[in-house]
This record gives sequence, C-alpha cells and structure tokens, in this order.
Amino acid sequence: MFEVEINIQGAGLAGLSSAIFLSNVGINVSVAEKYSHIGIAHNENTQAMRNYGQGEDLLSEFKNMGLKLKNLKPIYRINKYAPSLRKSIIYSKDKPLFYVFKRGPREDSIDHQLYDQAISNGTNFNFSYSFKNSEIDVVARGSTYNTGFGYGKVFQDVDIDDDLIHFLLDNKYAPDGYIYALPFGKHEITIASTSFRKNVFELKKLFDKFMVENKVFSELVEGGSIKHDFSGTGFYSLPKTAVIGRKYYVGGAAGFVEASRGFGDYYAVKSGFHVSRAINEKLDYDKLWRDDFGKELFEGFSKRMFLRGLDNSGYEKLIPKKEKVEISEYAKLSKRILKFFLELYSVKKLNNWRQEYPLIP
Ligand SMILES: Cc1cc2nc3c(=O)[nH]c(=O)nc-3n(C[C@H](O)[C@H](O)[C@H](O)COP(=O)(O)OP(=O)(O)OC[C@H]3O[C@@H](n4cnc5c(N)ncnc54)[C@H](O)[C@@H]3O)c2cc1C
Repeated sequence: MFEVEINIQGAGLAGLSSAIFLSNVGINVSVAEKYSHIGIAHNENTQAMRNYGQGEDLLSEFKNMGLKLKNLKPIYRINKYAPSLRKSIIYSKDKPLFYVFKRGPREDSIDHQLYDQAISNGTNFNFSYSFKNSEIDVVARGSTYNTGFGYGKVFQDVDIDDDLIHFLLDNKYAPDGYIYALPFGKHEITIASTSFRKNVFELKKLFDKFMVENKVFSELVEGGSIKHDFSGTGFYSLPKTAVIGRKYYVGGAAGFVEASRGFGDYYAVKSGFHVSRAINEKLDYDKLWRDDFGKELFEGFSKRMFLRGLDNSGYEKLIPKKEKVEISEYAKLSKRILKFFLELYSVKKLNNWRQEYPLIP
C-alpha cells in the first residue's frame, strides 16, 4: 500500500468509481458521504447510458476497466416523439442502443454494486459525514450548480416492452427539456420530465398534468400503480480545468454531463478512472478526460444551446420523417445537424458559461 491516503467527498457514481480504481492500484482511500446510506441522494429510479456512437460495448468497456456490474439491461429501440406525437422509431439489430439500470439505495442498483466492490477493495467509508474543505483530494459531491432539473415517477405492475425507450420533446410539459420513459423489465417503468428552465416544483405540476393529458405515456402505465416519485438537479459544463486548488473534480461536480440529453453517469465513471490514473501515474488529469470525452461534451453543450432557442414547431422538424430509422442512418442525420450547431454555437458561448458557473476551490 502507498503511504498516501486519498479523501473523496461524495459516494455517488464518480466518488465510488474513483475509490475502486484508486484502491485497485493499492492506494488507501477514504470516502465521506453526507447521507447515512449509499444511494439516498438519488431516490430509486431507472437511468440509461448510451451505447451507440462509441466503439466498444459499454459492458465490456466497464469489465476491462475492472468494474463488476450486473443487471444492466439492453435496449434496442427508441420511439422519438414530436410534440404532435408523430413518431419515428430508431432501432439497432445487433448492438444495444442503451443500457438501463437502477440508481439509488437498492441492492441491485449500480450505486450499491460499486459500493460493494469498493468495500471489498478495502475502502474506508464515513457516512453522515463531510471532510473539511482542506482535507479533500477528490471532489465527487455531484452538481456544483443547478442548471437542469428532473422530476418523475416509478410505476410498477405495468405490461410493457422491455427493450424500448420512449422520448418526447414538448415545451408545453418539459420547457427547454424532454420527457422519457425507461423500462426496467416488463413490469416496471420510470417516466420523468426534465427542464433546463423550470425548477422541480414547477416541473412536478407539469408532469402530473402531462400524465393525464398525454395518451401515449399514460397508456404505458395503464393498469399499473405508482411506486414513488423522485427528483433531482444537474449541472452541465465543460470546464477549462477540472483541477482547482489542488483538488480533482469528477462527475457532476465538474459539470461532466452531456448537456443535450442529460447523460452524466458514463462520464462520472470515466472521470473516476482518469483521476485514479492521474494520481497513480502522475499524469495530467485534464488531458486524460479531455482526450476521452471533451469533444462529446462540447458537442452536447452546443446542441443544448441550439435546442434552447427552439419552440414546438422547431422540435417537430427534429424528429425524422421516416417511421423507422436504423441507428447508423440516424447517426448520419444527426452528424449533419450537429455540424450546423457547431458552426452557430462555438467557444464564445462556452466561455460565457464557464464564467457564469465557475468551479470553486
Ligand atoms: C432526475 C435525473 C435523471 C437522470 N438520468 C440520467 C440518465 O438516465 N442517464 C445518465 O447518464 N445520467 C442521468 N442523470 C445524471 C446523473 O444522475 C449524474 O450525472 C450522476 O449521478 C453524477 O454522478 P456523481 O457521482 O458525480 O454525483 P451524484 O450521483 O449526485 O453523487 C454525489 C454524492 O455526493 C454526496 N455529497 C454531496 N455533497 C456532499 C458533501 N458536502 N459531503 C459528503 N457527501 C456529499 C451526495 O449525497 C451523493 O451521494 C440524471 C440526473 C437526474 C437529476
């Protein structure tokens, strides 16, 4: 074991992954978590990670990195709806488009699985506890700012397709955001609404109205019952540096969230991996994460800036005209639109954003 001990503030996906990767190379790790148990920060809900647009399958990527994860379920289709409810089905025949999994305190959640692995590696956990600022080496405390909001419900005893996600753009119910439905098996579905404009309280009211008025999403949960609701906030950014005052920022704390669709879990895990290499091999953390996913985050940021300006008639045009589109064809379409985004929304907007939402030591 090394003499040095690394203190990680926060036991979400970024903090837990950092702990596993650091302890895998023999470094002593202590984690402080402000809640009394793992996963409390995210009430149980289903989340998704994108598996398209990157070479390796996520499951083998995680396995090769040394993570032991079970219960990630493959998704092969996504129904994308315009505000008029016109739909286009994006599908893949072989490689899953997404994996869905549980977040939260459940034993089969990925939070809990990572926690079990960190414990078996010898990580020291301090619950209901925070390190003093001067003691922290890795900042993994989740969103530094609230630039996005989410509210949703988990429904049980439903009867649904277990390999199909539903996704809707509609400013009436999710202003400057989107609504999604993620299955977890055939009998449970999480439906949630996100907004980069309305807070959680306002979103909840809009969500309840939506579930009464929208026939596609309300039909999904027909005959089922509500298990519970959940809410949360997110922070997206692309910092110039994620090392502030000798502290490494990982996951949501650094703003590592793909801003167009709110995907942050993958970057939380990957930044944990990069921070462990930076510490263990004395490498440049900023270079590691930027080379790995900086481009993706910049594209996501540009898309978000573009989407912010759209009303429902603009959303209507974003959903492909064809009823069914294979993922490689869809990726080509998206690339063409993205080129347009990037020309319009460049580094200037990002610099303004960084000034508005700086990482603070
Ligand atoms: C409603 C909602 C739905 C989402 N859906 C998806 C999705 O489908 N796919 C996806 O990829 N991403 C999704 N995200 C984003 C994703 O949840 C985050 O990007 C991810 O959880 C970030 O991981 P993290 O470890 O950085 O932060 P968190 O998972 O938030 O963990 C931070 C931890 O730090 C603890 N903490 C905070 N402050 C302190 C302190 N002072 N001292 C000690 N501990 C502290 C917290 O209690 C928490 O346990 C969603 C977010 C929300 C809000």
